[in-house]
Amino acid sequence: MRQSGVDAGRLSPERACHIAAARSAETLSEQELLDFLTVANALYRGGAPVIDDADYDFIYLAALRARHPEHPFLHMVEPEPEFAGKAVELPAPMLSTEKAYSLEEVERWLARVEKAAAELGLDPADLNYRLTPKLDGYAAYDDGQVLYTRGDGRRGADISRVFARGLQVANGGERGQGPGEIVVSRAYFDAHLAEFFDNPRNFQASVIKEKELDVYAEQAIAAGAAVFYPFSVLPAWEGGKDELLRDFEQRVQAAWQSVDYDVDGVVLEATDPELKQYMGATRHHHRWQLAFKINQESAEVTVVRVVPQTSRSGRVTPVAEFEPVRLSGALLSRATAHHYRMVQDKGIGPGAVISLARSGEVIPKIEAVLSPAEAEIPEHCPSCEHVLAWDGDYLVCPNNLSCPAQISNSMAHFFKVLANNDGFGGKTIDKLYQHGLRGVEDIYALRAADFEGMGFGPKQSQNLEAQLLRSRQEAVEDSRFLAAFGVFRLGLGNCERLLQYYPLAEIFDLTEEDICRVEGFAEKTAAVARAGLAAIRPMFERLLALGFNVQATPIAAAPPDHPLQGKTLVLTGTMQAGGREALAKQAKARGAKVGAAVSAKTDYLVAGEDAGAAKLSAAEAKGVRVIDEAEFLRLLAGETL
Ligand SMILES: [Zn+2]
Repeated sequence: MRQSGVDAGRLSPERACHIAAARSAETLSEQELLDFLTVANALYRGGAPVIDDADYDFIYLAALRARHPEHPFLHMVEPEPEFAGKAVELPAPMLSTEKAYSLEEVERWLARVEKAAAELGLDPADLNYRLTPKLDGYAAYDDGQVLYTRGDGRRGADISRVFARGLQVANGGERGQGPGEIVVSRAYFDAHLAEFFDNPRNFQASVIKEKELDVYAEQAIAAGAAVFYPFSVLPAWEGGKDELLRDFEQRVQAAWQSVDYDVDGVVLEATDPELKQYMGATRHHHRWQLAFKINQESAEVTVVRVVPQTSRSGRVTPVAEFEPVRLSGALLSRATAHHYRMVQDKGIGPGAVISLARSGEVIPKIEAVLSPAEAEIPEHCPSCEHVLAWDGDYLVCPNNLSCPAQISNSMAHFFKVLANNDGFGGKTIDKLYQHGLRGVEDIYALRAADFEGMGFGPKQSQNLEAQLLRSRQEAVEDSRFLAAFGVFRLGLGNCERLLQYYPLAEIFDLTEEDICRVEGFAEKTAAVARAGLAAIRPMFERLLALGFNVQATPIAAAPPDHPLQGKTLVLTGTMQAGGREALAKQAKARGAKVGAAVSAKTDYLVAGEDAGAAKLSAAEAKGVRVIDEAEFLRLLAGETL
């Protein structure tokens, strides 16, 4: 959001993320809702969506429509973000499409078309309709000389450079076929681009941008996977109204499946030129055209196989593969189960029928198992063949020091979290691993000639060296730098919180108590984090010495004193959360004193079940506050009562 230069009104990036995560518009003020819609729309069109298309329509836009059915925002053509170049008049206006979400809405539109036809003296029974998939790409207009962005629908920017870069018209078509979309094959995206771009939109934006094409976009264009697809050459069904309505769902499904590109619905239009002319357009949409959007949030599929994948921590993740299915427009063929215990208990094996839930992730989650089948539980690590072990619900590969998957994924994790470089995704890292690279610092020592020696192309090798330099020169927050090391329990959020109180230089010298004082760290987490930090310290210091441009988080304040710091407690009765001794130890770790008898100096008497009557009456006599176990646990967690 900061890089895109989107005018976000009063909305901070943090607030925008919060609103997106809430997936609800209920508590937003009207101004906030409008600001959020503007930002979400701009980021979506710029290739970095904060929410998906369906959430945008069904949650946020719907909320605005419910509050103000005539709000001007609803009737605006969503602008494409500007990619430099001054705006020029489009040869023909490129409007939005009116949207329908139900068959009733489609029937009302058909009635309007028929009414207009009757006014023109045409027989409604003779009318023809065209049904095509609605491509979810980057809209543009090709007049044969210039390719324009849609801009505000009337004025757009000249992006003819994409044809100069070798972009072809779909199906070997000619230039000059009017409106269409720049799209990328979903199969190609999954196989070759998914590790470099979060989603196809992100990639489409990179094809259009003014700066030099990166090597992946070049390859996708050369392979014919990224194309300009004019609407006029889309696979289409044509027929009369009765035919259309008779098998409406099947016709929509057929169009929905007819291309290997992301689609977000189908487009219906009347084909008669005279009728189209007569019906005309509003400022927003052509009256003779309608988009029927499918809000398909879940799907049932049959599992073909379950493939184990070893993660950087050694946990083995089950990935279910199935025949491609569309979910919210995206063509999907894999989903992850949480862990192998779930695979075993629920019967996620070949032939099992599962239901998938839509999520923001590229890979969806398995929502439920509708019909189980015998699961296959791997005995050996798919990467290193080491015998696997159970750790709670998870299968893990204990070969942490020499399992190729764990080493490669840790290296890829570093570059991914650093997020100021391109090109060091899974495939590149695997290749580097095959050539003996075992640590991030060794990768930073590589030069273009070394990459070429490993079989990378000359241009890609230059690019990889340049990216390594860039990742050291570009400013990076210290919390992100620390999180890139992938210490268990030190993800980005926890690193941010920790570095608000302690500078990076002191992070390796913190005690467990120091860490415990930071919100979000319980005793166990602090111990794990401290051990993890000690383990990465030598590598951390060597990497930092390579000259990364690390930006210190401003120190907010001294870490808050724990509410139990300096307090005196007495525990009595039976606690649900554990033995009194263990709980007393936890309280002591937070700076509390734990006594055996109630005195005037006691701050709290913690009374569990069957609390001692003598202690209770002593507390009453001495004016000591009595709290129950739930209140005590809140104190332990750092809350004040
Ligand atoms: Zn392994």
